[in-house]
Amino acid sequence: MAKKAVTPTISKVYKPPVVTVMGHVDHGKTTLLDSIRHANVADKEFGGITQKIGGYQVEFKGKKITFIDTPGHEAFSEMRARGVSVTDIIVLVVAADDGVQNQTREVINLYKKSTAHLIVAVNKIDMPGANPDRVKRELASEGLSLEGWGGDIPVVEISAKNGTNIDNLLENILLVAELTEIDMVEPYAPLAANDYIAEAVIIESYNDKALGPVATCIVKAGTIKRGEYMIAGATYGRVRALIDPNNKTVDHADLSDPILIVGLPTVQNTGEIVRTYATDKLARQHSEKSVNDQIQEEVNNLVEAVEIIDEANFFDDVEQVSLFRIILKTDTKGSMDAIISSMEKMHVEGINIKIQAKSIGAVTLSDIDYANSTKSIIIAFNTEVPKALDQYIREKKVLVREYRIIYQLLEEIEGALLGLMMPEEEEVIIGNANVKSIFVLSNKNIIAGCEVKNGKIIKGYRAYVERKGEKMHDAKITSLRHLKDEVKEVSVGQECGILLEPTFEIQTGDKIVVYKLEKL
Ligand code: GDP
Repeated sequence: MAKKAVTPTISKVYKPPVVTVMGHVDHGKTTLLDSIRHANVADKEFGGITQKIGGYQVEFKGKKITFIDTPGHEAFSEMRARGVSVTDIIVLVVAADDGVQNQTREVINLYKKSTAHLIVAVNKIDMPGANPDRVKRELASEGLSLEGWGGDIPVVEISAKNGTNIDNLLENILLVAELTEIDMVEPYAPLAANDYIAEAVIIESYNDKALGPVATCIVKAGTIKRGEYMIAGATYGRVRALIDPNNKTVDHADLSDPILIVGLPTVQNTGEIVRTYATDKLARQHSEKSVNDQIQEEVNNLVEAVEIIDEANFFDDVEQVSLFRIILKTDTKGSMDAIISSMEKMHVEGINIKIQAKSIGAVTLSDIDYANSTKSIIIAFNTEVPKALDQYIREKKVLVREYRIIYQLLEEIEGALLGLMMPEEEEVIIGNANVKSIFVLSNKNIIAGCEVKNGKIIKGYRAYVERKGEKMHDAKITSLRHLKDEVKEVSVGQECGILLEPTFEIQTGDKIVVYKLEKL
């Protein structure tokens, strides 16, 4: 008898929604997270939490919900910047007595650009000055379509401090998860024998005194088991221990579980992906592959950037300090600030980075014109470079670099700058003179009365001062006198007056060394 064909039906499994609580400082995020945790934590056995792992899980009406407990904002932005997401639902906390503030707006912007769903928690309704309706009006004017106001974003009025309406908030979280069907997924199954078994995203990583490098993760696919081998970015390790939010060591972590993984060789970046494998060999193979890929990509980027920048001659010599001009375009003000502050910390001898212009949004025609006229490079971070501009960019010979990951952007820029500063010119000494007397002019300029000891002193050339064998200052000879006459050069054995600019203190006994730079 012929066998009947059976079509396998994949039954979906429950995926606890992953929630990040965000909002303006002091609006009650921490209080809300604490209050939810204490009232509903899935496992009541924990006693005295010694280590917050950056996330926790509660059980409400028999369903689990995962809360990310790290400073929501930064982790969320950083993950977005790296192109990964773990948050399914953002709970935006707004204090009823304070209303929409800067960070509230930042969260709204993050939400608008993300795939996450939003629930608004109007908090502190117990406060005498509370005015939830005003808050809702303000939110509506920020472009949020709230429930009861013609839209579908749930708004729950709560008091995190008194525990009022917290159940209602949890109910809404489950409801949103259900309606948007983010709570039921097909179980992950490896496609091939050498595929990974489970995948997780790092939301926090640090060096623990006792445990070494640890990483809190949210499991994105499969089940992570103790003893498995893992890779994270370019590193490789073994899952030595798994610690759950109640500080208990467990032997596995399921979908959406927050879990602390012990066994990675180094501290990882937020947003890095951890993958586990059955054998040591498989993990090694994949980790080597990923290291090689990464190195190759970095080398390619660097070579390309250096070549193009070099070719386009982006540098202006100002007092021998080159300016590297950047037009910065980013997706949000947060990433803009983060990039600028990191660039300010970047130090490459002889080069100053100048942010010629900065703005939020896609690259535009006028950015390209401006880059062309100011010899700037355009850096587009997480923002669009419209295809329609490709031709124009080529015509104008403007370099546009796109990035999605902040650290990669910074590394590449620094690498490019260092590459450019590799000595392509060499210092050739023209002559030197000993300072025998000093004259200070009425405008504070200093004339050094000198005797030329070697070679020549030539007006317009650069010179540095040497004191007790140490290089002190570097400047330009802007005036050269011999017996009261302004001259072009003086030779060995002659006396002269040298004016160096910018002005600095010179002492008798100093040696002025004149040099020029010659291309190698
Ligand atoms: P965060 O900066 O957003 O994490 O805010 P916190 O949770 O630290 O709360 C800031 C302050 O507001 C603290 O003093 C809390 O006790 C207080 N607070 C938080 N929620 C409420 C609330 O529902 N009612 C009242 N009256 N105070 C609250």
